[in-house]
Amino acid sequence: MTLVDLGIPRLPTSWRDTSLPGDRPRTPQLVDSFGRVATDLRVSLTDRCNLRCTYCMPAEGLPALAREKVMTRAEIARLVGIAVRDLGVRQVRFTGGEPLLRRDLTEIVADVAALDPRPEISLTTNAVGLDSRAEALRDAGLDRVNVSLDTLDPDTFARLARRPFLERTLAGIEAAARVFDLVKINAVLVRGVNLDHAADLLSWCLERGFELRFIEQMPLDADHAWDRTAMVTAAEVRELLGERFTLAPDAEPRDGAPAERFVVRSRDTGERLGRVGIIASVTEPFCGDCRRTRLTAEGGIRDCLFAHTETDLLGPLREGAPDDVVADLWRTAMWGKRAGHGMDDASFVQPERTMSAIGG
Ligand code: SAM
Repeated sequence: MTLVDLGIPRLPTSWRDTSLPGDRPRTPQLVDSFGRVATDLRVSLTDRCNLRCTYCMPAEGLPALAREKVMTRAEIARLVGIAVRDLGVRQVRFTGGEPLLRRDLTEIVADVAALDPRPEISLTTNAVGLDSRAEALRDAGLDRVNVSLDTLDPDTFARLARRPFLERTLAGIEAAARVFDLVKINAVLVRGVNLDHAADLLSWCLERGFELRFIEQMPLDADHAWDRTAMVTAAEVRELLGERFTLAPDAEPRDGAPAERFVVRSRDTGERLGRVGIIASVTEPFCGDCRRTRLTAEGGIRDCLFAHTETDLLGPLREGAPDDVVADLWRTAMWGKRAGHGMDDASFVQPERTMSAIGG
């Protein structure tokens, strides 16, 4: 009698064992057992970063992956190709670590833009060094950029990022604004550090036509210093911004997007100033509508930021596994995705890997 006979899903032990785990249906897409379909792929291009944000990395950094463990340009193109051709992925976002630290980023973008069907391609970056590369990235096929910027105050930036690079980030944002139609800014608010800067940051973004999104701080820091009672909640951000602006829920459907969006108007004149998003991953989780699958820099699949396990695709790929086998390993990895990230469970354990190591 086998485990399958007993109704217990069995995971393949080697890529050569291609039998389906228990009850996984034979659908081409990345479905999970709760009926969600992942169409949005986040690819971490490197675990290295040139900042040391307090909510992400330790001051001394993390041991970097050996170069040979990180996916090469050709391996990235092959895996993303499998995702868009065989698995129904439609959006690809490059992240890290800091993806601009890859010298071959432009070529990677061009490879993915040449795929058929062509996915939408975006980049999450701290923008340090983007000023000299934005145009080439756009020409290679990059559609959108999200830049992380938590404050406009140089001292606070240096305190949060542990590097005095505000000017370089701003230069990168300026270049991005020149070449891309839409620039989104991501900000994490930390009590006692940059919470008071939230409304100024929003003003600055609205004046320039950038869409700002505040992200609730998640327990993915290297120092394990995250504290639910101290974190800045989405409700608090709404209240704080409401003191300076009028916020109304955006009528446009959210369509699986993590941010709840609000139309921002002037409190004095009622003039529409733009939009702001709030990503309440902790207090108002949106796991039920999650459409993400994640590929780490060393070619592992994670079905969730808070997963404790990964499925290695790079090993099988390097051992000669054909595309259909890799695609099936990916499907199996996603089939086991949990209903939610479980942060509200008493049994919740913070993943060992930080946001920078998983790919934020
Ligand atoms: N280096 C790039 C950047 O700065 O955008 C990409 C990687 S970074 C890990 C991606 C995003 O994750 C950034 O916007 C960062 O602010 C966010 N992030 C990192 N740690 C976080 C945490 N503990 N909670 C919430 N967001 C976090």
